[in-house]
Amino acid sequence: MKQLEPGSRLVVASHNPGKVWEIKELIAPYGFDAVSAADLALSEPEETESTFEGNARLKALAAANPSGLPALADDSGLEVDALDGAPGIYSARWAGPGKDFALAMERVYDALAEKGAWDGLPPRANFISVLCLAWPTGEHRIFEGRVYGTLRWPPRGGNGFGYDPIFVPDGDTRTFGEMEPADKYAISHRTRAFEAFKRHCLEKVEARGSAPKDGRDLEALEAAARNLSTQAELARFITGLRDDLAENGSAWQARDLAAFLQALETAAVTADVPEQEPRWRTLARALLAASK
Ligand code: IMP
Repeated sequence: MKQLEPGSRLVVASHNPGKVWEIKELIAPYGFDAVSAADLALSEPEETESTFEGNARLKALAAANPSGLPALADDSGLEVDALDGAPGIYSARWAGPGKDFALAMERVYDALAEKGAWDGLPPRANFISVLCLAWPTGEHRIFEGRVYGTLRWPPRGGNGFGYDPIFVPDGDTRTFGEMEPADKYAISHRTRAFEAFKRHCLEKVEARGSAPKDGRDLEALEAAARNLSTQAELARFITGLRDDLAENGSAWQARDLAAFLQALETAAVTADVPEQEPRWRTLARALLAASK
């Protein structure tokens, strides 16, 4: 298997901002010049395969071919034992066209309730992440990671994304949504898949430690604003925005409350609001736009 060279340019083959952010964080210490498929205006392929592996391969090749760069794709999801592995490869699709994960979590709750699966011990589930590194030549390799746990209802915590607020990993009492990002990464399915990727592809590349972030981490705020679905996630987002104001207030365009409210009004008037978008997300996007 080809190795990645230090300083290589690498495409993160995803259009999901939460995922792109997580993968970029994982590879940041290795000094890759990571760009997302969206940055390169690559179109998003339809996930037509019937396995995580097939979809990860399809996405990696769809980015590696036109860009001429190695591409790393992830296909992931939640597998619930009592639902025979559903939502599985349909995890994103259960959230509907508005990518509303409050709705997706309710669908999981309802499907389990129909089977009486909430009556005894908490239902068992696992997250799975399958990574595919593909080269423009078509050469590729697959890596897999899982984290096992149980589901809870109602959802708890505003961190993370997707199904995080209903998943409690074995050995913990907090949902992924209640954990600090570092605690989730320490054990997450994506980290485990990435460990396997590292062992096989990064032998020559030494970790340099993450460079401290200078200035606003708009990418993280944008990822949160474009992914959140629940009220708790909005609250967490506002905490992040407040921290950003405390640390990087001089970089905000709106320097006082009147200016901020005026910018918020403009953002509210001009916002393009997709019909199915969860309203908490619309508000988060307007708040972020007003700070820029
Ligand atoms: P895909 O890999 O883009 O097809 O989407 C996988 C979907 O699985 C995501 O949209 C989330 O709903 C869910 N998922 C994957 N990883 C996680 C995670 O770490 N936390 C919560 N949900 C996840």
